[in-house]
Amino acid sequence: MKARVLEVCFAGERSDKNGAVKIQLLPSTFDEAGRATPEQRLSCYLIDDRVTIDAGSIALALTRTQHNTVRDVIITHPHIDHIATLPIFLDDMFTVLEEPVRVHATAEVIEMLERDVFNWTIYPRFSELKNDKTRVMEYVPFRPGEEFTVAHLKVTAVPVNHIVPTVGLVLSDGKTTVASSADTTATDEIWHLINRQPSVDALLIEASFPNSMAQLAGVSGHLTPAMIRGELSKIKHKIPDILAMHLKPAYRQTLVKELGELGVPGLRAMEPGRDYSW
Ligand SMILES: [Zn+2]
Ligand SMILES: [Zn+2]
Repeated sequence: MKARVLEVCFAGERSDKNGAVKIQLLPSTFDEAGRATPEQRLSCYLIDDRVTIDAGSIALALTRTQHNTVRDVIITHPHIDHIATLPIFLDDMFTVLEEPVRVHATAEVIEMLERDVFNWTIYPRFSELKNDKTRVMEYVPFRPGEEFTVAHLKVTAVPVNHIVPTVGLVLSDGKTTVASSADTTATDEIWHLINRQPSVDALLIEASFPNSMAQLAGVSGHLTPAMIRGELSKIKHKIPDILAMHLKPAYRQTLVKELGELGVPGLRAMEPGRDYSW
């Protein structure tokens, strides 16, 4: 109990002191008491209670208040762990929406969502549906390499090296800049984009497989801690906070150990359910 109270205070202090951008990896698994467990099964990163990157656990873990404030969802790629409960979120919100939920993605990814998910078989095509006030879902396509606006954020997306079309992101609220690799194996463009920023406050980088599974990581478009060392060497900035995410639950313990052994200052595993602010 004491440990939990301390953790809450710590998160609060951080956001009061210099919080400009707040990010939480939404939990996707809960213990017997309903608390978030450390394992990440789905990907959904909530930013400032308004925007999410991906939507894996969007319908599972938003608070009631956040349900009413999140209207923008950026989809990096259409893998199920990144979109799993987006249809359920739209369904939940259907009658109460006063403006559409905007789904920001590349034209390529939007086409896949329409063809494979919102196709009237897997789930209704929400982009064609209205409640009595508004359309419930609106696609907002963006082009890789061109800055676009999502709520209060300026965002630039560039392709990364995954097995389906996927983008990594750099976003800023004007004060704080945060980057995310999304799902990728060894890649370059996102690091070039990061190097072009005046400064970067935090990086989310994927760490799916342990070092012993480097071959599988390569063919499935993911990274190991050893590969992360190589990727980070491409970055010129000194980034104070580097959060490893997308750790496959089966290897989490090994991954946390191997990430620690890299000895990279500021690098640690991102914890679901915890607010990080910069
Ligand atoms: Zn993926
Ligand atoms: Zn994934």
